[in-house]
Amino acid sequence: MKKVCVITGGSSGIGLSIVKLFVENDYLVFNLDLSPSLLGADFKSEYRQCDVTNIDQVTKIITDIAKQHTIDVLVSNAGIHFSANIENTSEADLDKVFNINVKGAYAAIKAVLPSMKAHNNGSILLMASDQALIAKHNSFAYNLSKSALASIAKTTALDYASFNIRANAVCPGTIETPLYHQAIDNYCQRSGANKAEVHQEEANLQPLQRLGQPEEVAELVLFLASDKAKFITGSLQVIDGGYTAQ
Ligand code: NAD
Repeated sequence: MKKVCVITGGSSGIGLSIVKLFVENDYLVFNLDLSPSLLGADFKSEYRQCDVTNIDQVTKIITDIAKQHTIDVLVSNAGIHFSANIENTSEADLDKVFNINVKGAYAAIKAVLPSMKAHNNGSILLMASDQALIAKHNSFAYNLSKSALASIAKTTALDYASFNIRANAVCPGTIETPLYHQAIDNYCQRSGANKAEVHQEEANLQPLQRLGQPEEVAELVLFLASDKAKFITGSLQVIDGGYTAQ
């Protein structure tokens, strides 16, 4: 029988690579996202239209999946980026980032736990960031949200270890996805900087002298979801080309 993975935000970037890799590895994948990927059908995943800020909706979709399937893996990946220091972050900005990045994860985890507990098995992955470990300039709300995800991984790992449920946070550095390009575009618009130059500067900041690719993050997630990682829980798994080692 196929293993079942529920992922949020699987229609673009890192999430899309995870969907693709899990399908290739014979998982049945349910992708909960605002809109389907243009390529989604090619990857043979099940799409469910979902806004992770709508807790009732997340709960209903996941509960319905759990009525038909045993959920083995949750990848809470949906997230947005927001650039500003604390003074330039309005309460509405803060709420928006927190509702998607943190409360979305809270809703998805809460919804999969009954199924995972009933089967005494499960692996939960939270897509955090290198910003769960370090701060970056003009990243007040995003940094806060990613630190919160690291905390959720740890508390969930402790509270559900007795049910053989593991929880880990994946902490990517700068990964070349639509979210990355949008962040660079926004910066260039504000500052008048040249995008190609900014992109090169970003690459130069990494010890490995390049940005990460979404497929590389997907490989780590596949490993952490599998039984090969069955002694790994409550951890923050950095995948950042050496950035946070500096
Ligand atoms: P992306 O923008 O390419 O993809 C994000 C996906 O989340 C999209 O499909 C989007 O539709 C979905 N999404 C956004 N809001 C949603 C909502 N309310 N409900 C449901 N789905 C929603 O971004 P990405 O770069 O692939 O980022 C994925 C995750 O990885 C995010 O949590 C991000 O913070 C994290 N991350 C990214 C990087 C990077 O450099 N790209 C680095 C570290 C962490």
